[in-house]
Amino acid sequence: MKSDDCQRLKEVLKTPKSIGIVTHRNPDGDAYGSSLALYFYLSKLGHKVHVVSPNDCPGFLKWMPGQGDITIFEHDLKSASRILKNSEVVFALDFNALHRLGDMMGDFMETLNPFYVMIDHHQEPDDFANITYVDPTICSTSQMVYQFMDSMGDLGLMDEKIATCLYTGILTDTGSFRFPATDSTTHRIVANLLDHGANNAEIYRKIHDVNTYDRLQLLSRALHNLVVLKKYHTAYISLSQNELNRHNFQRGDTEGFVNYALSLKNVIFAAIFIEDRKQKIIKISFRSSGNFSVNEFARNHFSGGGHINAAGGRSETSLQETVEKFKNLLPDYIEELKTSE
Ligand code: 5GP
Ligand code: MN
Repeated sequence: MKSDDCQRLKEVLKTPKSIGIVTHRNPDGDAYGSSLALYFYLSKLGHKVHVVSPNDCPGFLKWMPGQGDITIFEHDLKSASRILKNSEVVFALDFNALHRLGDMMGDFMETLNPFYVMIDHHQEPDDFANITYVDPTICSTSQMVYQFMDSMGDLGLMDEKIATCLYTGILTDTGSFRFPATDSTTHRIVANLLDHGANNAEIYRKIHDVNTYDRLQLLSRALHNLVVLKKYHTAYISLSQNELNRHNFQRGDTEGFVNYALSLKNVIFAAIFIEDRKQKIIKISFRSSGNFSVNEFARNHFSGGGHINAAGGRSETSLQETVEKFKNLLPDYIEELKTSE
């Protein structure tokens, strides 16, 4: 965080404030990790703090410290609205445009005018925050919250709960420390989190070793549906609502499926298309390795965005039409999708 922003924020936080922390719809480990860590930290400073999430998290995050204190906008409209209306300061974590809160909560936030602090690592932030701490080179918002505490001179307040939340966010957003944005700073920070009581083996187990039979069957269906487009070094998976229903789909079950497509030798661009009949959309995840920017691709063609190697988007046409549109775009990218092999 720039030192004048830090000074400004120190001034704002000098006296006890009502603070809201909000994160994106379909929260992931980094969304909850960064939000809950900040919740514990700001509470320690004596503020009245509430985390509001647009919707609930997947089951594999339900164990996180403080998770039960989160108000879910979708479930508890009345208290969530009251909290947000009364928040003098709102921290926006792990997203950079209000529409990422979903239609309902996004529209509601548009009616308020709090002092916004954005902490986020996605590209091209919208201009709604009073203080914008954005750095797309950092692996996770959780690492940024650590660095924020550091710039506030408050690393002394680090404790087991904060360390556990931050570790969870860093672990999940770096794909267990393997994505390129994981650098030596990340590892130094993680070392410090372990020293403060984050239990790496236990956190990994709680996140990853919680497969259900249904989820594995759904994975098997997804792998069955995998299509490789050799010419474009591209692979994709599609899952229809009927297929999801057949395997008793629960939120979070498809997490990581797209990585199987990207793990293929000579594949540098991968996508998964998931039908959501309730929301009447196809939710898409894109992944790439190397210089091909899925952020640009998602932004330009599928109303989405994210990072250079991981992005998401959506389509309002049918599953089949969405996949056709995707395939028809590939010839325009044939040069960028070339590999050295
Ligand atoms: P995922 O594919 O795991 O849902 O998301 C990958 C990355 O892209 C995440 O960093 C996420 O924040 C971002 N992302 C996912 N969906 C969207 C979207 O619809 N719009 C934007 N701007 N970013 C997205
Ligand atoms: Mn993140």
